Amino acid sequence: MDFAYSPRLADLKQRAADLTAKIIPYEDECERHNGLSPEAHTAIRQEVLASGLQAINTPTVYGGAGLTVLEQVVVQDELGKLTNALWDTVWRPANPLIHATPEQRERYLIPGARGERRDAVAITEPDAGSDPSAIATTAVPDRDGYVIDGEKWFVTVGDVADFLIVLAQVPGAGPTMFLVDADTPGVRIKQVPRFTHTFVYEHPEFEFTGVRVGADAVLGGSGFLGQGYELTRDWFTEERLMIGARTIGAAERALTLATDWARQRVQGGVPLIDRQLIQAMIADSVVDIATNRAFTHQVAWEFDQASRPDPSTRKTLHAKAATVKLAASEASNRVADRCQQIFGGRGYIRDYPVERLWRELRVDRIWEGTSEIQRLVIANEARKRGLDGLLSFRTRG
Ligand SMILES: Cc1cc2nc3c(=O)[nH]c(=O)nc-3n(C[C@H](O)[C@H](O)[C@H](O)COP(=O)(O)OP(=O)(O)OC[C@H]3O[C@@H](n4cnc5c(N)ncnc54)[C@H](O)[C@@H]3O)c2cc1C
Repeated sequence: MDFAYSPRLADLKQRAADLTAKIIPYEDECERHNGLSPEAHTAIRQEVLASGLQAINTPTVYGGAGLTVLEQVVVQDELGKLTNALWDTVWRPANPLIHATPEQRERYLIPGARGERRDAVAITEPDAGSDPSAIATTAVPDRDGYVIDGEKWFVTVGDVADFLIVLAQVPGAGPTMFLVDADTPGVRIKQVPRFTHTFVYEHPEFEFTGVRVGADAVLGGSGFLGQGYELTRDWFTEERLMIGARTIGAAERALTLATDWARQRVQGGVPLIDRQLIQAMIADSVVDIATNRAFTHQVAWEFDQASRPDPSTRKTLHAKAATVKLAASEASNRVADRCQQIFGGRGYIRDYPVERLWRELRVDRIWEGTSEIQRLVIANEARKRGLDGLLSFRTRG
């Protein structure tokens, strides 16, 4: 076993830390104005391209950085330190786009990897959240294409997206993913709710009314008709690892801020860091961060070892990604809560990053599958295939 970073991983970590440091100065502007100016977006885009960390999940041949899953985790861990979800300015085309046909690649994936076109994933509906099989959006075959009707909620980046990846039911074929340009007639933003966090982009609700798309809008081509849930599951699986990584980075930033504060803040003639009740909060937070970082790295490494997993291994990895997401997001929420407490009243002021981290980490227990859904995935694995895959290390060779 070797737990050291290779020179390449250490270099990626440093590059991600440098990029994070360049984006941090935009946090205050984003918090105060609920978003960034076009100039700020342009400046960040240039920094992302200069760092070489654009589209880290996309092969280099299509313009991405082509990182392994473990490498992506190392990068996301650093970017997760950013508040206001500024990590999302470091674009990554949605994973299902890897199945794009050659024409779709030219039109969506390659410009997406270059940061010239943004995508947004539209799965959730008013009556279909944790249970995507309840989706009511339809794509009905008509002449040489489809007509899409329905409603999608919480479409992250939907306000600036050039195209949407929409999950819709095709009568006779089943759930299917479609590539829909945002300016297609019939696509409309219904409303843009305000959320607990201040996110650099919005999460609008979309209405699709008689939206006509060609047969070539089926993501991956006609062979992927009815494959919408499989693509959704693949997207969730890797994304859950990235959420795990980002929440750990966020927790580390919160703890760094809180320990620095505890050193300088004197109450009752003693720095807070000398108080044992404060020390207990710091110690518990170190445990939460260190254990979850190690586990997230381990599971990411396991993903890379199983490049073409058989269906059973795939399901086990899916459950391990759920374990990562559940453990890391819950632990990071605990850490942020303690760190806010160490800051006292200041920890409740939005100008303080620790307040924003506390507020922003909350959604990580909800999106990409709630904590309850992760528990169901893990328990289902234990019930069907036993505990081995969940608890043992892989054997090399
Ligand atoms: C800020 C934000 C951004 C988002 N971005 C996107 C996006 O870009 N694209 C997208 O498609 N979606 C997005 N989502 C949607 C998100 O994935 C869903 O909110 C999430 O999956 C939960 O669905 P729901 O809100 O309908 O809650 P529900 O499914 O209604 O769940 C409500 C409660 O019931 C629990 N519950 C549900 N089923 C079970 C069960 N079987 N057993 C036990 N408990 C259960 C849940 O855990 C939860 O506590 C986003 C959400 C938010 C808040």
